[in-house]
Amino acid sequence: MKTNTESSGEEFSTRAIHAGEVPDPHTGSVVPPLYQTSTFAKTSWDADEEYGYSRLANPTRRVTEQKIASLEGAKYALCFSSGMSAIDAVVRLLAPGDEILTSLDLYGGTYRVFEEMYPRWGIRTRYVNTSDASIVAREMTKKLKLLWVETPSNPLLNVSDISLLSRYARETNTLFVVDNTFASPYLQNPLEGGADIVMHSVTKYLSGHSDLLMGALALNDDDLHQRLSKIYAYHGSVPGPMDCFLASRGIKTLSVRMERHVENARMVANMLDQHPKVERVYYPGLPHHPHHEIAKKQMRDFGGILSFTIKKGGYEGVKKILAKLNYFTLAVSLGGVESLVCHPASMTHAAYSEEDRRKAGISENLIRLSVGIEDIQDILQDIEGALS
Ligand SMILES: *Cc1c(COP(=O)(O)O)cnc(C)c1O
Repeated sequence: MKTNTESSGEEFSTRAIHAGEVPDPHTGSVVPPLYQTSTFAKTSWDADEEYGYSRLANPTRRVTEQKIASLEGAKYALCFSSGMSAIDAVVRLLAPGDEILTSLDLYGGTYRVFEEMYPRWGIRTRYVNTSDASIVAREMTKKLKLLWVETPSNPLLNVSDISLLSRYARETNTLFVVDNTFASPYLQNPLEGGADIVMHSVTKYLSGHSDLLMGALALNDDDLHQRLSKIYAYHGSVPGPMDCFLASRGIKTLSVRMERHVENARMVANMLDQHPKVERVYYPGLPHHPHHEIAKKQMRDFGGILSFTIKKGGYEGVKKILAKLNYFTLAVSLGGVESLVCHPASMTHAAYSEEDRRKAGISENLIRLSVGIEDIQDILQDIEGALS
């Protein structure tokens, strides 16, 4: 698998801590100060200064953006008020008549805006199995302007081949965006594989403590960067300085948190895979996962999220298990230090039509775990107890 060294030679954890940060020149403060301000005093009425109004630029936001850019090996990163507003900014690059091609299983909120919001502006979305690159190649029509792929996907952990898809996208002039939320930049850097833009819900692993909402886009192209900078600054879909400050603090420990998330998730996946009451485990780290080989090729490790189905009891059986869990809080979201459990069919993917849920394979007896960084003995005991 790949290593985490950037061309500059600096390792990932070093960049996570130092990128975008210098001690404050005015006070020596080691941590860059929180610029909780909407506006900046001008030195004269015609001065052209870096900071004028926080919607356009804010120093605390800039620190977070530089950190995320560095971790994705990108020239630029832009931070948004949420993952959804980052997605919205990308779709605003399109025009009426344009089409989006995307995966069958997606973050529920992404599906919802693709289905409910953009058709009004003449932007349609089609859903295909993006893990099969030959299907994607067949679906690339003239109207297609955006290929949107989540890998690993939510909630079934399907993996799509980033370098192969980026080749098809380049040949047909299609913008290729990867939602990298599940992997985090620690495990996967889609720009390396040829993606045009990487999108993150910073709300999840990057900030890591379930205490803020934020989105980000990372990219290399100058022109796209200019267009997206205008979109977020003009529309005001930017995060507040306090959230940027907290996100930067979270990012500093991303590598140690991810190591532990991955280690714990691997143990949970192995345990569930052997469990007599479990029908199937969806985790790209398991050798029988249908996309294990692609995952091994493009990821540094397999992540902290997994899903599984139970053999008996259907929805009622799921409810019993959820009620018995102690450390896994029943909640949407993921990527925080604490373990969370959800029932995709009724929670995160309730927006899916029944038919689309069936096509994607999101069944009633599916449970998704965001494995936290608690002690593994407690996590395993909790799940064993709930399944017994
Ligand atoms: C949470 C999430 C989003 C949306 O991000 P918000 O910060 O909640 O707006 C998008 N994609 C994935 C994969 C997510 O998990």
